[in-house]
Amino acid sequence: MIVNTDRTYQMLLVLFFAQSCAFILGLGQLYGGDPTVQTARASTPELSRDIPDRSNLAECVIAQINYPRHILSYQLHITTIGDHLDAIAHQYGSEAALIQQYNHISCSPPPGRALIIPQTNPPAIWPQQSVRDQTILIDHGRTDRPWVALTIDMGAGSQPVPHMLEILRERDIQVTFFPTGNWIAQNPWLARQIAQDGHEFGNHSYSHPDLRTLTDRQIAQELAKTEQLLYDTTGATSRPFVRPPYGAYDERVLQTITTQGYLPIFWSLDSLDSVDPPKTPAFLIHRVTTTLSREELSGAIILIHGGSEATAEALPSILDQFATMGFEVRTLSEVLGQ
Ligand SMILES: [Zn+2]
Repeated sequence: MIVNTDRTYQMLLVLFFAQSCAFILGLGQLYGGDPTVQTARASTPELSRDIPDRSNLAECVIAQINYPRHILSYQLHITTIGDHLDAIAHQYGSEAALIQQYNHISCSPPPGRALIIPQTNPPAIWPQQSVRDQTILIDHGRTDRPWVALTIDMGAGSQPVPHMLEILRERDIQVTFFPTGNWIAQNPWLARQIAQDGHEFGNHSYSHPDLRTLTDRQIAQELAKTEQLLYDTTGATSRPFVRPPYGAYDERVLQTITTQGYLPIFWSLDSLDSVDPPKTPAFLIHRVTTTLSREELSGAIILIHGGSEATAEALPSILDQFATMGFEVRTLSEVLGQ
C-alpha cells in the first residue's frame, strides 16, 4: 500500500491476469493497483557507482551493463497494468537493467509498485509534475500473498544481532535490515555477515537524527554517507529503501528522500520493542502475530529492532507462529512485489 500524505490508496484486488513477458518463462500473476503515476524532473545530479548484482533477480535478466553510470536525476514511477520496463526506461530516459538493479525487481513488476527511476538521459517526454509535487510513503506490500516483510532497524545496540542471524539462518529466512551508518561503522563484521547470509539492506540514515530538523542537503548527506559506507563494507546497496529514524517525517522529508532516489518506507505494524517500558518476549510474540487480521497481515511490513534482546528471544516463536499460520517471512523487495 502506498500512502499519500493527503489520502490513502487502497490497493484493491481488482483483477488477476496472466501477463506474458518476453523475458520471463512462465506467467506472472498480477493484481490491480492504483494507477496513479507520479513523475517529474528532479534537480540533484549525482554520480552513481557500481550497484551490486542481486542474485534473487532470477528469471529475467535484460542485459549486463557497465557501471558507473552518470545519473541526471531520479524519478518516481508507480507501475500500472501492462507496464514493461523497456517502455518505462524509454519514457524516462533510463535503462531497464538499471531500473531492475535499483529496485531489486524482475522485468515485469506488479501494478501498483513504486519504482525509483534513475535517469541517465533526457527523457522522451519531460514529465508534467515535479517529483517535488509528489509525496509517497510505503507502509504495506502486495496483499495477494501470505507473505510478511520483517524489517529490522539498527540504530543502537548490536549484541542480539548474531543470535537473530543464527535463528534466521537455521530457517533459511531472508529479511531486510535497516542499519544506520554509525551502526555499520561500529559493526563491520556483523554487516558483512548480514550480507553474506543473503539479507537485504535499507538505509536508516547515518547518525539517526529526526530528519525534519535537517536541511535537504543534510538529509541527502545522511543517506549518501550510509550508502557509501555500506557499499565499502559489504558490497551491498541500501537502495531503494529508506526508513526515517523514529518514523518521523513530513512532506519535505519524504520529497527529499525520493529526490535522492529512495522510497520512504514506514510499517504496517510496530512491535513496540523500542518503546518504553521494556517489553517481554511473550508480549512481543503476541503483539507481532495477533494484532493484525490475516487479511491485514498479507503484505504487512513489520518493524522490530536489532538492539532488542527480548526481540531476539521472541524471534523463534514469532517465526514458528507465522509458519503455523501459513505465512512466509520475506524481504521487503519480495513483499512489495518484484
Ligand atoms: Zn531507528
